[in-house]
Amino acid sequence: MEKIVALCKRRGFIFQSSEIYGGLASTYDYGHYGVLLKQNVKNEWWKSLIQERDDIVALDAAILMHPRTWEASGHLEGFSDPLVQCLGKCKRRWRADHLREAQPEGELKCPECDGDLSEPKQFNLMFETHMGPVADEGAKIYLRPETAQGIFVNFKNVLGFARKKPPFGIAQAGKSFRNEITPGNFIFRTREFEQMELEFFVPPDEAEQWYRYWREERFGWYKQLGIREEKLRLRDHDADELSHYSSGTADVEYEFPMGFSELEGIANRGDFDLTRHQEFSGQKMDYVDTATGERYIPHVIEPSAGADRATLAFLVDAYDEEEVEGRERVVVRLHPRLAPVKAAVLPLVNKDGQPERAREIYEELRKVMPAEFDTGGSIGKRYRRQDEIGTPWGVTVDHQTMEDGTVTLRDRDTLEQVRMPAGEVGPELAARLAA
Ligand code: ATP
Repeated sequence: MEKIVALCKRRGFIFQSSEIYGGLASTYDYGHYGVLLKQNVKNEWWKSLIQERDDIVALDAAILMHPRTWEASGHLEGFSDPLVQCLGKCKRRWRADHLREAQPEGELKCPECDGDLSEPKQFNLMFETHMGPVADEGAKIYLRPETAQGIFVNFKNVLGFARKKPPFGIAQAGKSFRNEITPGNFIFRTREFEQMELEFFVPPDEAEQWYRYWREERFGWYKQLGIREEKLRLRDHDADELSHYSSGTADVEYEFPMGFSELEGIANRGDFDLTRHQEFSGQKMDYVDTATGERYIPHVIEPSAGADRATLAFLVDAYDEEEVEGRERVVVRLHPRLAPVKAAVLPLVNKDGQPERAREIYEELRKVMPAEFDTGGSIGKRYRRQDEIGTPWGVTVDHQTMEDGTVTLRDRDTLEQVRMPAGEVGPELAARLAA
């Protein structure tokens, strides 16, 4: 993980937030390549749900929601973690359930200083704030701890205009906030993060079948974007891990440097959410089939993923070190569709008309894909930089280009270089990207 953190800082993917003030604990800012990478992760998610199928619609609800939402959802009462504090030297706070996983037997001890721990206290994870100028109880609102509730409260709105009937889904991606007791592991667990959530509404008797479907579908999404299969697993929750309303939950887990950890949860939530909002709002939340007159509250299958966690998993999985001709090379083997930059156009030397020709090729290429033009430093140094930001292809202009119009196309992973006419590079790379 230290290597990933260092690479992210060195190449401007992700760095500590408010660094000039000493940083804010477990809060991170995304730089240029980080923004592009996370954006690509989200785009692939959207594409798989919206462009590649026609039973899901998009939504972007506000972060601030009516406070009754959180009563209905159960977050106000139950969205808490068991907090214990070290009574020994270090006084640090921990999540009792996490400690229990690491210390399955006996009395829990502080992992930092081996001190005794306090009794667990339930700690609500929602960030509170106030709306308007008066900070009294009546003005209290919360930063959403998940995007899902924005979907449930809009169920009727969407049903009204989307011309869909169950089974159909509503997808939303956006910021969520949780006052986590023990954030950490870089961007794996932070207090401000982005979620990508789908609520898939189905007739009650189809819930199990759709739950099975989405488990496989979401697992496949990570594989298809290049994560090594042996680093992924789909873990079904035991009965004692399930929320009271859920009849099935499975986590897609990735083997991060700290061990297998959750990337995404897929839950069969029954009719819990819509029923609760119907109760608390007094508005009908059922679906009425106009053809048969049948009415029911749809059941919900929820695949809930984290955009930052997925970004971290893609980075960790892609990171590689190898020796090439006696020199060490760091290469980030991101799937081309996720790579922030698809191709770098590099003149071999900074003279003889090569930079000008390279710039022309770059201007053509960037009409069809994100590309970079780089003239700074030796060619080896420029390749290394592109390898570290995960650019899959390098297009090099050399003396031969000036004679016969061909360039070399370098592959990041195999290091193979092939010559081709400059005009063919764009179509060739576009075809490879679409493959
Ligand atoms: P955990 O047990 O790891 O805290 P959770 O089970 O509470 O996670 P969910 O409520 O199921 O998480 O949230 C769905 C997804 O949102 C998670 O799989 C994860 O990818 C992401 N996520 C949740 N909490 C955080 C966080 N604090 N930082 C980054 N991503 C998060």
